[in-house]
Amino acid sequence: MTLNRIPLVAGNWKMNFDHREATYFVQKLAWLLRDAKFDHKRCEVALFPSFTSIRSVQVLVEADHLRIRYGAQSVSVTSQGAFTGDVSADMLAHLGCSYVIVGHSERRKYHPEDDANIVDQVRAVLAAGMQPILCVGESFEERRQGIELDFAVGQVNDVTRDLSDEEASKLIVAYEPVWAIGTGMVATPQSAQDAARAIRDHMQAQFGAATAQSVRILYGGSVTSHNAVQLITQPDVDGFLIGGASLDPEELALIARLT
Ligand code: PGA
Repeated sequence: MTLNRIPLVAGNWKMNFDHREATYFVQKLAWLLRDAKFDHKRCEVALFPSFTSIRSVQVLVEADHLRIRYGAQSVSVTSQGAFTGDVSADMLAHLGCSYVIVGHSERRKYHPEDDANIVDQVRAVLAAGMQPILCVGESFEERRQGIELDFAVGQVNDVTRDLSDEEASKLIVAYEPVWAIGTGMVATPQSAQDAARAIRDHMQAQFGAATAQSVRILYGGSVTSHNAVQLITQPDVDGFLIGGASLDPEELALIARLT
């Protein structure tokens, strides 16, 4: 983390919490942050509920003037029409979403989300005025072969090669090694830093220093309050994408305070 980038603590709830549980969570988190005099200008906190809970989160955030941000876990690449079950970027933007997670490894694995689809999702999110959080990261096999940095940078490049400078400046990248997601096996601070640095170097080569220095690069994979401090003190790690630990409001508030 450096002072010129505001860190982002993003809670990816995945398929957890119905809208009543989501409402309770947001109330509790807001209370915990207020009680701790949390400075939202110093660090952003964002939640990623299921589609069915976003409206409830929006109502609460607006009614109580909360500084908590929120977004969606995926988005359709088309804007409207006969696409049963899909949700468009404009629908999410109209719900006050700031961010959309794109290309999470679980989406890449369980849904037909290939590189072309992920580029189109990024484009759709940007066109609707939101920021995409692009997830990249190697599996255990690529790490075993020692090609993890090339792999992660390659996944970033699959998207950035099609972006303009302006589009790239709005991108957020989450480096999430697949072997670390939900396993309790967190990357070492040095390997999180190495990957974040390699991604930033790639952004610099493609878009120049100003964009590379402003783009936020998150780490994700078994982040908890026990490892957050060592990770966030790495110069190129600008926050976290958190799964399991984001389901506990006390733990998420603590990580935000430590970030
Ligand atoms: P985890 O998940 O924190 O449970 O490892 C992270 C993620 O999938 O974004």
